[in-house]
Amino acid sequence: MNEKVQVRRSMAASAVLMAALFLLPVILVEPYPVVSAAQPKPPETKPTVITAPVQTVPEAVPMQEETRLRVLQNGQVIEMALEDYLVGVVRAEMPASFEPEALKAQAVAARTYTLYKMTTGGNHGPEADICTDSTCCQAYLDAASAAANWGERAEAYEEKVAQAVADTAGQAVLYGGQPILAVFHAASAGLTRKAGEVWSSDLPYLQAVPSAETGAEIPNYYSRAEFSTAAFREKVLAAYGGADFSGSPQEWITGAVTDSAGNVKTVNVGGVTVRGSTLRALLGLRSACFTWEVQGDSLVFFVTGYGHGVGLSQHGANQMAKNGAGWQEVLLHYYTDVSIGPYRFTNDLQT
Ligand SMILES: [Zn+2]
Repeated sequence: MNEKVQVRRSMAASAVLMAALFLLPVILVEPYPVVSAAQPKPPETKPTVITAPVQTVPEAVPMQEETRLRVLQNGQVIEMALEDYLVGVVRAEMPASFEPEALKAQAVAARTYTLYKMTTGGNHGPEADICTDSTCCQAYLDAASAAANWGERAEAYEEKVAQAVADTAGQAVLYGGQPILAVFHAASAGLTRKAGEVWSSDLPYLQAVPSAETGAEIPNYYSRAEFSTAAFREKVLAAYGGADFSGSPQEWITGAVTDSAGNVKTVNVGGVTVRGSTLRALLGLRSACFTWEVQGDSLVFFVTGYGHGVGLSQHGANQMAKNGAGWQEVLLHYYTDVSIGPYRFTNDLQT
């Protein structure tokens, strides 16, 4: 085994530390949706399930690609090599039809996100390093399930995805020498978003930057969502019981504060000020870049882009790659003031 094992042992030995780690905020990755509507099948090859204490630790410092992690999938913890896991994440998180440099950027973002979870304790305590639920950690797709989605292009796509991971082996996005919370989303509205506009706090490397994608080639880049006034009122009141909808529906939503791309930072709904990202979640809108109007007895929302808008934009990365950018350039664009290089674990989880 390797130094990661030592890390796990120190994790297990430190109940106080783990309790603190549990309290870290959970910040979600919003992946590109998996194409297939079918549920992923169980892995074809039987994984190793951790049921016994881990093995002895050698003295040698392991190479990054030897790092192993415990992945929670369908209630089962599977141990696998980090680099093998990453192939499954890229299969699930980005269309394999994307440019090779975009896939490499995605592979490094996914590796970095995983390392961040491993070094900070993640969302699953001592049980697992990461899970395959895209609404919690990152999506993951085994080779057989991906092949079923890809059809006749399966062989070429599998090779392309595996190559993206292999060509960037061990590389991570670092800030202060540590792996960053490398979140990503499907498509921005022309400008990504500062973390603090969407979640509870800012991070220095998650700033708003221009993003190159346009709606021309992106399915559902512009979307529309319609709610009856009664349904809208019910959804908001379920979360904000003090909201006041006694006036005309024309007056229910007011005072939107937006950035230059139209992402709603805050908006007043029934007299309550909420984040655009919160209203987005309440209504199930594809992004927080929206406008609205009253049409008869309905409230209609017009939405641009897909995802939370923070960090790397997958379609933006693909557009940059089409324009000739390499994966490093893509990552250095979407993550601010970072460097790219290998990351090695130390025995101290927090440094
Ligand atoms: Zn998770």
